[in-house]
Amino acid sequence: MVGPKRRTSLVFAVLMLSTTRSFIASAFSNVQNAGFLGRGGGQIPGRVFRTAEQRRGLVRTPSRAPPTKELLVTSPDEDTTVSTYNMEDIVNVCKRRGFVFQSSEIYNGFNGFYDYGPLGVELKNNIKQRWWRDMVHSRDDMVGLDSSIIASPRVWEASGHVAGFVDPMVDCRVSKLRYRADQLYFTKVELQEDGEVIGYIALLDSGDLHGEARKLAEKLKKKAGKEGTIKFPLDIKDMTKATVAEMALIPSPATGEPGSLTPPRAFNLMFQTSVGALADASSTAFLRPETAQGIFTNFKNVQSTGRVKVPFGIAQIGKAFRNEITPRNFIFRSREFEQMEIEYFIPPEEEVWPDFYNKWIETAWQWLTSIGMREDLMGRDVHLKGDLAHYAKACTDIVFRFPFGQVELQGIAARGDYDLTQHQTSSGKSMEYFDEANKRRYVPHVIEPSIGVDRLFLALICSAYAEDEIEGEKRVVLKFHPSMAPIKVGVFPLVKNKPEIMEKARAIYDQLKRRYNVFWDVSGAIGRRYRRMDEAGTPFCITVDFDTLEDDSVTVRERDSTRQTRMKVDDLLAFFDKEING
Ligand code: ATP
Repeated sequence: MVGPKRRTSLVFAVLMLSTTRSFIASAFSNVQNAGFLGRGGGQIPGRVFRTAEQRRGLVRTPSRAPPTKELLVTSPDEDTTVSTYNMEDIVNVCKRRGFVFQSSEIYNGFNGFYDYGPLGVELKNNIKQRWWRDMVHSRDDMVGLDSSIIASPRVWEASGHVAGFVDPMVDCRVSKLRYRADQLYFTKVELQEDGEVIGYIALLDSGDLHGEARKLAEKLKKKAGKEGTIKFPLDIKDMTKATVAEMALIPSPATGEPGSLTPPRAFNLMFQTSVGALADASSTAFLRPETAQGIFTNFKNVQSTGRVKVPFGIAQIGKAFRNEITPRNFIFRSREFEQMEIEYFIPPEEEVWPDFYNKWIETAWQWLTSIGMREDLMGRDVHLKGDLAHYAKACTDIVFRFPFGQVELQGIAARGDYDLTQHQTSSGKSMEYFDEANKRRYVPHVIEPSIGVDRLFLALICSAYAEDEIEGEKRVVLKFHPSMAPIKVGVFPLVKNKPEIMEKARAIYDQLKRRYNVFWDVSGAIGRRYRRMDEAGTPFCITVDFDTLEDDSVTVRERDSTRQTRMKVDDLLAFFDKEING
């Protein structure tokens, strides 16, 4: 049984009247360390920020309401949610078992960058290999690509990223800290009876924005020594909606004092670098903020050499870089990450795209559940028409309920012919496809399913994490789908002082390791060895004992049920093949 746990308070808030600096400092470092934030929407004059979908389009769209718990998930089931553990548990197990380390840790880390340790790299590879197998190899209508990370800056001008890949940023003039304006929320707190304004509160989202704001408002009232009832519901907005007058009254999260936050301004998320010996303006290039543009610029190359016909898709897995203003939530929002993106090219007729779009949403959903994602924590966020970029026909996010809130895991967008047309216009090279069957030319439209490997990695760990008790001893277990598990099998000789047992176990280990990542462990009691493998997410352990020498069978112990069965050594490969590869 998974015991109830205290959830770390994820919100840091600033009470205008009397919040102390030390509280802010410690709360802020909590937030920064574990990085707890949701993502909201917003706009500032001339720019609109929400998804890359919109950033690419540079259009004004109505902003959305601040995220709430109910907003996104289609099938909330509070009893089976992540509320039994928190981000600290996840971060701890990742560190303890060597999944993820802070980059440059010996130099106190480097915010927004992470390194993947021995188990992490295995899990990441499993995700990527399985995706490639299912999205590319097992389909007739998909091919792959590996385009360069740095491309001509003209690519990013044509795509709209140079002008529009921006987030709204506010600075605290006093502390010099920076915030994403659309992720920093504020509200006026006033009394029901006479409308007296007590003050303003500012807070970051924790997954329960309204609940936290309520608590903070009550606290503010108490600190101000006011009687009466606070007027609910609170009108919570993000900082992109603050008027000039309100800007002067909203406290800085860093100092607790009002008036030190700057108005929101556009901050381009692309990392710049210089290419060539001279570091002047003409040598400026960018690290790609998404892999998709490499697919568009290679559309003609791939189509003509790959002998593929529309409808078909190009898939790519690769690094992307975004200079996120506030990288948060561990590996959920980092500055260097990997994407698995598909551009699926389809004919341009208006009646064609909905079917492909719906199929890709379904394919994405099914694939995620097939690798062990908890479906009860998944949901769909269908973007409203008014939220879309001007060229986009539709967009659905598959969201996941992380301990810090429900947020985008994967986006599936029907992007029309916007990208290919932009590159056609900008480069002067035709992006048209010749449809031989119907003897006509057109610029194909696209459906774009796009998912971050690191985000999926985190969602898989959250889906797999469990705590229970085995024979009175608490254990942490990662219940990965066997195909995702970093180590597939642990092989244990019962004792190390019996050469025949050691030899037999070693032979099994050598045989299995030709096919799988297996782990050899001779130290400690068998129970301890099982526990170590449980925390690493290893689905099976084999113990070679004295009986093995008699009957050539071993004990196979299953991670989730802890059930132990005797199995002939000769049957092991077939058993694991079925369990791991399905
Ligand atoms: P978000 O709104 O969370 O910033 P986005 O809409 O900008 O995401 P896209 O540009 O659609 O994201 O990127 C596709 C996918 O890449 C996302 O669904 C996500 O899984 C992943 N991704 C985007 N930004 C990051 C990041 N900073 N760190 C890790 N993964 C990311």
